[in-house]
Amino acid sequence: MSLFSSRKTHVVDTDILVIGGGFGGCGAAYESRFWGRNLKVTVVEKANIERSGAVAHGLSAINCYMGMRWNENQPEDFVRYARGDLMGLVREDLIYDIARHVDGTVHLFEEWGLPIMTNPETGHYLREGKWQVMIHGESYKPIIAEAARKSASEVHNRIMVTHLLMDATHPNRVAGAVGFNVRDGSFYVFRAKAVIVAAGGASHIFKPRSVGEGMGRTWYAPWSSASAYGLVLRAGAQMIQMENRIVLARFKDGYGPVGAWFLLLKAMATNAYGEHFEASMLDEMKSLVGKYAETTPLPTCLRNHAVLQEIKAGKGPITMQTQNAIDTREKEEIGWEDFLDMTVGQAVVWASQNIDPKEKPSELITSEPYVMGSHATCSGAWASGPEDCAPADYQWGYNRMTTVEGLFGAGDTIGGSAHKFSSGSFTEGRIAGKAAVRYVMALAGNLPQVEEAQINTLRDEIFKPLANHAIGRHEIVAGSVAPSYISPLHGLQRLEKIMDEYGGGISTQYMTSEPMLDRGLELLTMLREDLDHIGAEDLHQLQRTWELKHRVWTSEAVLRHTLYRQETRWPGYYYRGDFPRLDDAEWHAFTASRFDAKSGEWQMSKLPVHHIIG
Ligand SMILES: Cc1cc2nc3c(=O)[nH]c(=O)nc-3n(C[C@H](O)[C@H](O)[C@H](O)COP(=O)(O)OP(=O)(O)OC[C@H]3O[C@@H](n4cnc5c(N)ncnc54)[C@H](O)[C@@H]3O)c2cc1C
Repeated sequence: MSLFSSRKTHVVDTDILVIGGGFGGCGAAYESRFWGRNLKVTVVEKANIERSGAVAHGLSAINCYMGMRWNENQPEDFVRYARGDLMGLVREDLIYDIARHVDGTVHLFEEWGLPIMTNPETGHYLREGKWQVMIHGESYKPIIAEAARKSASEVHNRIMVTHLLMDATHPNRVAGAVGFNVRDGSFYVFRAKAVIVAAGGASHIFKPRSVGEGMGRTWYAPWSSASAYGLVLRAGAQMIQMENRIVLARFKDGYGPVGAWFLLLKAMATNAYGEHFEASMLDEMKSLVGKYAETTPLPTCLRNHAVLQEIKAGKGPITMQTQNAIDTREKEEIGWEDFLDMTVGQAVVWASQNIDPKEKPSELITSEPYVMGSHATCSGAWASGPEDCAPADYQWGYNRMTTVEGLFGAGDTIGGSAHKFSSGSFTEGRIAGKAAVRYVMALAGNLPQVEEAQINTLRDEIFKPLANHAIGRHEIVAGSVAPSYISPLHGLQRLEKIMDEYGGGISTQYMTSEPMLDRGLELLTMLREDLDHIGAEDLHQLQRTWELKHRVWTSEAVLRHTLYRQETRWPGYYYRGDFPRLDDAEWHAFTASRFDAKSGEWQMSKLPVHHIIG
């Protein structure tokens, strides 16, 4: 019996459990209620859905909108764009499915009160770029959360989900989830017929550039702690493209977005000598990636590659020539508002460094890598596709169901479908919600069962870090250092250092290789052993502990996938020094992994890439 076995337990029975109340989760709750009028739909969220997830701070643009009613773009165009940006490897069925439904989602957002800017001449939404529309988005998340709150039967805020529960009668079927209340420490057991994981992507698995006084600052939300992957991969779900991390060129030190500057305000980036360098590198890029270097627009990874080459050649700093782009008061306001809507810290950096964008250029730099399948990369769970357009081997059940029965996903969780962003993640949540309702209705009496023993084992495991600290603190030698445990922060810093130095982070200029990855995996195994001895001094640190564990499991998948893919497919995201070129003959395929919790083994394989759009 554990030291804390007397803690309160809450058991919640539900038809559909949505884990994570961000964009995917809110979409899932909304649509599950629409189709499942009489079903119980429960949302569980580690923060408060009012201001949680990657959109907590607001956004200045919706990045995925076709504009089909004005004949601006068609879903097929969007698939071609995403495929080009990802060097040929995307799940075209999933992307098409989102693209054909996303406009309806954006129109709902507007109906719910989101102010979308319009072009005074055409009356259409104001475009930032081909796929983006500008919004006054400081309150984007509360507006969307309200719709989810009204749809869900129950919303449980402040519950950190740590594990999925598996069915006792059917080993590959989900049966719910467990977690704890981060405020009062009570234990939560959710027994569910279907589970939709929408728990967000992974920041802070690679060491960030922001250290010292800026420690903790990252581009993707620091609270995106890899649960989307940590939860589903431990349940045995097949994962794909986990090597496909993303690196972003952003304004230096504040991680300010560049989209509005490049696309709407038409600002240009140059090296320190005022040269536009991208075009001059075309031949070099072709020698690395062949025909993909001729894609229009140039894939994001190759744009990063160009920046990195310039910096290596001593031609940095790279700067955005903001002063040439601002010639009206309105443009100046757009420039500042872009930051104030979603990255206030960048405005603070400018103010603290005496930068007036009307007068002088601003530095750009590439970020540390992140893993999230809703943005411009394809990492995540392998999911069944839409019945009407997915190839046969991409379908084994309900739309957006992973390879675990009853386990669905949306947003960052689902792999293969990059460029979903906020609107696409909500749309994918809706698709998953609708399919989960059908799944639950078809279950009839064949319900999942949860054994008491499984719950008790997980409860002891979840709270053990509190016991480790309560006992180990008596051995403290100095400050907070004790020989029998490590703190969650120490564990996180070790993880970031391992990933950075061996997995292709900033300190090696994103370079890695088989020997480096092998060494990284060796060190990660040692870190995993030490995680059993982590000490949490309070509930906040207990949450940090479980976030760290999700990050470590995800990181292991990232290293294993990176090792498995023997090519450099996305120069600018990472480089394999031992396989420096793209190799379509061998690697025009998805990398896939499956973790077996019983044996602790990882099984790697390739999955085919089918092109369904010409
Ligand atoms: C800096 C930045 C800029 C962006 N810019 C744009 C933009 O301009 N336009 C655009 O359209 N999109 C943009 N995006 C992308 C967009 O925010 C994401 O694509 C979208 O939020 C992904 O949805 P999701 O549901 O997968 O994750 P999220 O919205 O992050 O939701 C995940 C939810 O799960 C919760 N959670 C996590 N772990 C657990 C757990 N263990 N237990 C319980 N709950 C948990 C989180 O608290 C969160 O509420 C941006 C993102 C960032 C970070």
